[in-house]
Amino acid sequence: MNYTIIGAGKSGLHAAALAQDLGHNVFLTEAKPEAEAKSAAEELAKRSIEAEFGGHTDKGLDADIIVTSPGVPPSNPFIQEAEKRKIPIISEVEFAWRQIDPAKNPVVAITGTNGKTTTTALVAHILNQSGKKAIACGNIGTAITSVVRNLEPGTILVVETSSYQLDRIVDFRPDVALLLNITPDHLSYHGTFEQYCAAKYKITLNQNEKNVLILNADNEPSKAAAAHSRAQILHFGVHPLQQGMYVSSGKLLIPRGLPDSQRSALQTDFQHKEEQLMMVDELRIPGIHNVYNSMAAALAARAFEIRNEDIRDSLMSFAGVEHRLEYVRTLNGVDYINDSKATNINSTWYALSSYTKPLVWIAGGRGDNNDYAALDELVRSNVRCVIAIGEEADTIFNHFSSMVRCFKAGTMDDAVHRAAEFAESGSVALFSPACKSFDMFANYEHRGQVFKEAVMGL
Ligand code: ADP
Repeated sequence: MNYTIIGAGKSGLHAAALAQDLGHNVFLTEAKPEAEAKSAAEELAKRSIEAEFGGHTDKGLDADIIVTSPGVPPSNPFIQEAEKRKIPIISEVEFAWRQIDPAKNPVVAITGTNGKTTTTALVAHILNQSGKKAIACGNIGTAITSVVRNLEPGTILVVETSSYQLDRIVDFRPDVALLLNITPDHLSYHGTFEQYCAAKYKITLNQNEKNVLILNADNEPSKAAAAHSRAQILHFGVHPLQQGMYVSSGKLLIPRGLPDSQRSALQTDFQHKEEQLMMVDELRIPGIHNVYNSMAAALAARAFEIRNEDIRDSLMSFAGVEHRLEYVRTLNGVDYINDSKATNINSTWYALSSYTKPLVWIAGGRGDNNDYAALDELVRSNVRCVIAIGEEADTIFNHFSSMVRCFKAGTMDDAVHRAAEFAESGSVALFSPACKSFDMFANYEHRGQVFKEAVMGL
């Protein structure tokens, strides 16, 4: 068959390689000029995969099937022409799914506006700690098309799926699906909020009664997915629920049985249908958002018959994902935390609300029309000192200097030294930039690395 792959990013390159290994004719088309995609061009040349750069010509339309990359919008003229010609267009996740035998390799799919990577890593961690074999893949960094060859029977794929990937599925049917939350995002791709929700609901499109769908009871758009599903529904939330996992008096309560047995338990033993899993403050990862992520992950583990003791131990040992409220070290009684992934105000809001200890907060980078007022209340109550860096340094300084002590720093090293100078024993030095990294760094990972090096150099 003739396969056209759109996009020479990670997922496109792995999809092209998989299609080639399956014996298909492969052509890859990339909008970026070759000069901006050099390593991809080299990789394709090494595999003798034919490719074009700098735009999509009609050559790519000579295809039986098109595999598209995340972020290529439906309005793209090439996509529109392919649709006019009735060429099937699928996402990389759908392509990978077609190579999986679901009887041998169960799939967990995780989507949501926020928390996907953390929850994906957490589900894989719990399963692996509990004697199963699980691979975290998808958006988390390992392309799903790179792991589906020669899968050992029993290996569980835990797939972080973006709405882009879901938008172009056909048969993809996860055994367990998690829809963590939906808030407005990526609307330039999806059009309206309703369309964005519709893409997320596709996670359950092909699920049946044997499958499980895990929903956030405290987030209406997530909860509403139940109406679009044939799967068994499990809810999580921070208020007591009729059925599901929730927080009560600082405890995490989890259903006793599997979804099915839970149903019969409900009829006979409604009073005792949940049991205490652990105290909320025993979770190693901080913040209310991580309480949600942990509950969603625990329910997913429950669907695989993982024992509560194992879930509890795994939640206690999960240190989180790099660059997301990542603990770096404690020096002179000050905890240093790297939250470089916080590239917008919303993420930093969660970061600032995650600590009860006083904070020295390092922020800044490249702004995106940031509305810092959303953080005022938290800054007033929790933050002792703000250190501003990057292109937004002046804006941040001007915004907060009337509320709290503020400094500007020219480099990351300078900022970290300032933080060390002003943080008293018992406080937290938090780097949660609320900004993009591109003014001073290659990406948020690079920025987080530089922060950690500066902290280790203190
Ligand atoms: P994603 O993969 O969806 O971007 P991550 O797990 O990488 O999510 O987390 C990114 C940031 O989003 C975190 O630093 C945190 O500030 C915030 N976040 C994580 N989980 C949640 C959640 N459940 N609800 C709201 N915000 C969250």
